[in-house]
Amino acid sequence: MEIKFKGLCSKLIIELKSKGIKDQKVLDAISVTPRHLLFDPVFRDKFAYQDIAFPIGENQTISQPYTVAFQTELLAVSRGSKVLEIGTGSGYQTAVLCQLGAKVFSIERHKSLFKNAKLFLNQNNYRAQLFFGDGFIGKKVFAPYDRIIVTCGAPFVPNDLKSQLKVGGRMVIPVGEGEVQQMKLIQRLNEDDFKETNFGDFRFVPMLKNINN
Ligand code: SAH
Repeated sequence: MEIKFKGLCSKLIIELKSKGIKDQKVLDAISVTPRHLLFDPVFRDKFAYQDIAFPIGENQTISQPYTVAFQTELLAVSRGSKVLEIGTGSGYQTAVLCQLGAKVFSIERHKSLFKNAKLFLNQNNYRAQLFFGDGFIGKKVFAPYDRIIVTCGAPFVPNDLKSQLKVGGRMVIPVGEGEVQQMKLIQRLNEDDFKETNFGDFRFVPMLKNINN
């Protein structure tokens, strides 16, 4: 990473720590993921490493770094974990997961965002499998997953996603119909039982049905 952005990024890391992010592996992954490449050059210096969400077109946003860090910490991935992500968006969260050594499958419902994310990830050697489609139904052909992360506000926990989670697996999903969602950790205890834990309020763009060409 260019020295200028390295400096800005290390300030961001200090901020994330002060907000309660503890997992050093997550912080290390964020510290080497080039978030500035997802910004128009005009906005790069000023906004790329601020702890805020930012527009990426199609009325969508790149998630706030704190939110990415929080969800990634809660997801607890290891090297080789098979992860399904719903809402590729910019591809930033995808890149952070790849950086942690996860095998990522990610779905996006906006064609243009899907294309841009693919370009960003390819150009930076992040090897995720990206799909254009509807995240409500997950990706059954590659199931089951060790981890599932949803990065848009879901009106409910989709049954298809629950059924594609491995026994012993973890799903991190913001759930709520309005502007504010509850961050939930869902652990699959066995074939039939799931344990749900709440982690407070977050704000995401909504998870929507149907694809958008
Ligand atoms: N992880 C992204 C967050 C982007 S915002 C990042 O780091 O940039 C959430 C994304 O979820 C948006 O791009 C939106 O288009 C997408 N989305 C919303 N509903 C979806 C659905 N049903 N299936 C797949 N993607 C969806």
